[in-house]
Amino acid sequence: MSDPAIKSEPHIIRPDKDTFLAEENPFEAMMERFDHAAQLLKLDPGLYKVLRNPEKQIITSVPIVRDSGDVEVYTGYRVLYNTSRGPAKGGIRFDLNVTLEEVKALAAWMTWKCALVNIPFGGAKGGVVCDPATMSMAELERVTRRYTSSIIETLGPDSDVPAPDVNTNERVMAWIMDTYSMHKRHTVTAVVTGKPVEMGGSLGRREATGRGCMFVTREALAKLGMSLKGARVAVQGFGNVGSVAADLMAKEGAVIVAVSDKSGALHNPQGLDIPDLIAWVKEHRQLTGYPKAEPFNKEQLLTVDCDVLVPAATENVITRKNAPQIKAKVICEGANGPTTAAADEILERKGVFVIPDILANAGGVTVSYFEWVQDRGGYFWDEDTVNRRLESIMVRAFNEVAATTEKYKVNTRIASYIVAVGRVAAMHRLRGMYA
Ligand code: GLU
Repeated sequence: MSDPAIKSEPHIIRPDKDTFLAEENPFEAMMERFDHAAQLLKLDPGLYKVLRNPEKQIITSVPIVRDSGDVEVYTGYRVLYNTSRGPAKGGIRFDLNVTLEEVKALAAWMTWKCALVNIPFGGAKGGVVCDPATMSMAELERVTRRYTSSIIETLGPDSDVPAPDVNTNERVMAWIMDTYSMHKRHTVTAVVTGKPVEMGGSLGRREATGRGCMFVTREALAKLGMSLKGARVAVQGFGNVGSVAADLMAKEGAVIVAVSDKSGALHNPQGLDIPDLIAWVKEHRQLTGYPKAEPFNKEQLLTVDCDVLVPAATENVITRKNAPQIKAKVICEGANGPTTAAADEILERKGVFVIPDILANAGGVTVSYFEWVQDRGGYFWDEDTVNRRLESIMVRAFNEVAATTEKYKVNTRIASYIVAVGRVAAMHRLRGMYA
């Protein structure tokens, strides 16, 4: 490290034991990559300090009356990491594992993701520590509305625009839009994206993250002289991202050899019938029990024999422990933060082509951007237009990352950070410091 401000940060140089502890901390993992990019960009120390701190962090209590009549208090977070390039943008998750550290990391990732695909947003993330699986629809609505009203000052089409994330969907977005609009005394569709199409949502938004994964995987395979046609793909996570990515890749001729969800995993080297599996999961809510494929240990999905691995579930699943056994040539990170920094090094040594999360899963926020544009313009596009524009943004971002990889002789993740952090830094330099 040549920059004194960077050098003085205590977390950068760590003995191996501490690195292991930090491996699971998503904010540290994000910062490690950020630091590397900042160093290569020769970021000046002042700007470095600005960019490694979130702009705003909200911690709020979310009390609701449960159906039983008892009062329960949940904890909610909203972190606006950086809004220099535009309104804060990022999803809201309802999950028992939500922590402030995680939300901070995810908000930073959103900042880099929006900058990487060059859409005019900053980055944010929110979450409520709760388990939607144990809540009724009415309780979920009360949590959503109470959480929305407690962060209402930051929300707005020009300031902070939420979207779906883990365990939230268009139903939840509709409640957010309604709560916000009731407070404003008029309908504001552009305050949230990922809404139902009937209320200002965009065609193609639900499939956008998986579709984006398919586009960049196609580009990565082409770089290796391969094609989606005949490529053997394993997908971890069969939610909105994993199932759509699997379906669209299969439609391009890929053979989906393995899929997994929380309940278990399925394997068929000849290829799984994805539309049939999607119909099964719609009815049974899990993969386990599906009669037309071999069940196998879900821990082994990541190391199964395949050409493309799509981790589309949660953070920290590819670690120093399993990275050496991974057989895929391409990893497309449908989830946010699935690979730890320690695993990155191992994968780089093995020559695996990693399509990093902030590129691989940026299709979702890109079509969120289209939704916001359509809501504000009051003019809606057909699905082909959405998909074509998504493809052009994803392919452009992929090519920029590929060019940066070559220019700086770094892996694709650091290259993505270089492009993204460089854009956010450029905006800060132009705007100057208001004090
Ligand atoms: N939650 C999604 C993500 O992590 C979408 C965010 C958005 O559309 O604002 O990218």
